[in-house]
Amino acid sequence: MTIIPYSINRKETWDAFIDLSKNGTFLLKRGFMDYHSDRFFDCSLLIYNGISPDDEFKENRLTTRDLAAVFPANWVEEQLTVYSHQGLTYGGLVTLPDVTQKEVMEMMESVIGYYRDMMGARRLIYKPIPYIYSNIPSGEDLYALFRAGARLERRLVSTCVSMQYPMKMATLRIRQARKAVDHGFYIDRMTEGDSETLCEYWALLEHVLLKYHNSHPTHSLQEMQLLMDRFPKNIRLYTVRHEKRIVAGAVIFEWRKVAHMQYIASGEEGREFGALDLLFRHLIGERYKQFDFVDFGTSNEDGGRVLNEGLIHQKEGFGGRAVCYDTYEISPLPALPNPPSNSPLQEENKDATAICTVPYLDLRRISASFEPELTAEVARVVQGGWYLLGQENEHFSKAFAEFCGAKHCVPTGNGLDALTMILVAYKRMLGWAEGDEVIVPSNTYIASILAVSRAGLQPVLCEPLLDDLLINPDGIEPLITDRTRAIMPVHLYGRVCQMQPIMEVAQRHGLKVIEDVAQAQGARYHGLRAGHLGDAAGFSFYPGKNIGALGDAGCITTDDDALADYVRAMANYGSNEKYLNLMKGLNSRMDEVQAAVLCLKLRRLDEDNEARRRVAEAYTGGITNPLVALPKMPSDVSENVWHIYPVRTPERNALREHLSKAGIGTMIHYPVPPHKQQAYAEWNALSFPISERIHREELSLPISPLMTQEEIRRVVKAVNEFRI
Ligand SMILES: *Cc1c(COP(=O)(O)O)cnc(C)c1O
Repeated sequence: MTIIPYSINRKETWDAFIDLSKNGTFLLKRGFMDYHSDRFFDCSLLIYNGISPDDEFKENRLTTRDLAAVFPANWVEEQLTVYSHQGLTYGGLVTLPDVTQKEVMEMMESVIGYYRDMMGARRLIYKPIPYIYSNIPSGEDLYALFRAGARLERRLVSTCVSMQYPMKMATLRIRQARKAVDHGFYIDRMTEGDSETLCEYWALLEHVLLKYHNSHPTHSLQEMQLLMDRFPKNIRLYTVRHEKRIVAGAVIFEWRKVAHMQYIASGEEGREFGALDLLFRHLIGERYKQFDFVDFGTSNEDGGRVLNEGLIHQKEGFGGRAVCYDTYEISPLPALPNPPSNSPLQEENKDATAICTVPYLDLRRISASFEPELTAEVARVVQGGWYLLGQENEHFSKAFAEFCGAKHCVPTGNGLDALTMILVAYKRMLGWAEGDEVIVPSNTYIASILAVSRAGLQPVLCEPLLDDLLINPDGIEPLITDRTRAIMPVHLYGRVCQMQPIMEVAQRHGLKVIEDVAQAQGARYHGLRAGHLGDAAGFSFYPGKNIGALGDAGCITTDDDALADYVRAMANYGSNEKYLNLMKGLNSRMDEVQAAVLCLKLRRLDEDNEARRRVAEAYTGGITNPLVALPKMPSDVSENVWHIYPVRTPERNALREHLSKAGIGTMIHYPVPPHKQQAYAEWNALSFPISERIHREELSLPISPLMTQEEIRRVVKAVNEFRI
């Protein structure tokens, strides 16, 4: 199957196919579609069977015969959304009469894949063509839609007379029609190009829609004129007149065996004397007798939310039944179907970065889960024209300080800067000397330690506990000297350090406590949020963190007014007032786009962390392999937000390869301990056995708030199947 985007030079192929198809209508022909393309970007597709993509360019070789289906659609860039019908009553997959169910499934899958992968679409809105146009009450495309995770978003109800099996006409309607005749009403059909009649009818229509339904016709008079000129055989206007004046009418779209009424209207006089009853009886009893269906159109109001009982009652009186015009939504568009785990492709691919059916972390999926708001927020800031030090930062600071329970939140360019600036500020404010000491865990991401070095202070490494992989509170005191100024606990992997004993040590020795909360946004300890447990805290919003920006960002939280003022100025060239510099500062600001994005994401942080907890609990409950040591669960669940689910095994590399073969992505946090890094060559000879062991044995299993039960199950199963 080959998908080729529609282009203007395939217009004839397209139209010829619609004529051959089982369910296409003239509304899906180019003359109608192109008219709407003035408003929307056309992203329609042609789906060919049995041609290679190379043939695409050999225009003359492609005939309508090779075509298997077409997919009319429009694209709304701001929403990254594909509409199968924008501006139309319906749209969707148009196929030949003899396609099979399986073929339709494959086509829909390819179409969805095309929009997602080639256009970056996040959402598909699909309004299927009602079965009355194919005469087969089939829903092959619906199977495919539901398989792709579609939801029924809206259902409009139309009343439709099956001409072969009409229900009985109500006597009241017949009586009303007679009344109209007695009153002197008569039926008239607009002749081709009679713009005066159209004009008069459109004025009545607009009046009626506004007065009785508080709405306007979708098409303007000019647009309807243009469409009628293009499709004189398909679009007709019937009117009911009294002494030459139009008192009621309807525009009817005729296609093959279906007459679809739209823009039905009756003025005051028409209503009083049954003008529409006269018209409908005529159309059903005379004009469309040879048709299969007469569709009276939908009877919903208020954007589709409510049914207009009166309209339905009247239409039913002519022998109509309900036909649904549904709208389905798929969002976000799903990932490609997983290849079976025994596929030869994976057998061959032994690389740890092989194709993953359970990726370690799928940032695309996370971003998509915030759509369409995420893109809308970015667009809003872009269009607002203010990019730094503005309202978005103010909103974010306020919201995040509140979230943490802290007095201040100062946004920064990233997490490393946040930690560094806290240390530099204290150093200057409190008169710490160059080379004074800060105690940090020996097993952490290098940034914690770099922050100390960058501030001109000396990191002193403290071993963690193997039990919770966090800094050992009992290991701190022996390291304290007369140059020790601060302790920097790192809430590694999402779990809060044992803050109570740490704070007690700090108080005994008059030390500052600076939390590194880069991995634990939203975690709590004794009910208080991480970031409000020490003197100050540095956060990172690197994209992969529990709350991540679309690039770099970070912040500082503190209750210390002087510190907050100091770092706020420092982050902005040392300035509180433009061009007046209080100190030698730097430039580390959060931009407005990130602030807006983080504000949006913050609202879901607790919920996302809760979802991470459920994944962690499922792992802990499900993994029983004795070769694998699981992370210890905290007694209070809120103490861990599971940025990472770290397991340990002496066979770390073998486990990683085993999982990779099963299509499961993993990471190592972190392969080389800080004291063995070249950057800290002066420490390379030192020994921190617990840290070294953790760095040798740690493996991080996939974890994200969006993991499905199936993905979790696969990971548990694969870990349990690991043998040496
Ligand atoms: C991510 C991280 C940082 C640094 O944050 P950036 O925003 O990348 O500068 C600091 N400490 C720890 C523990 C981290 O995980």
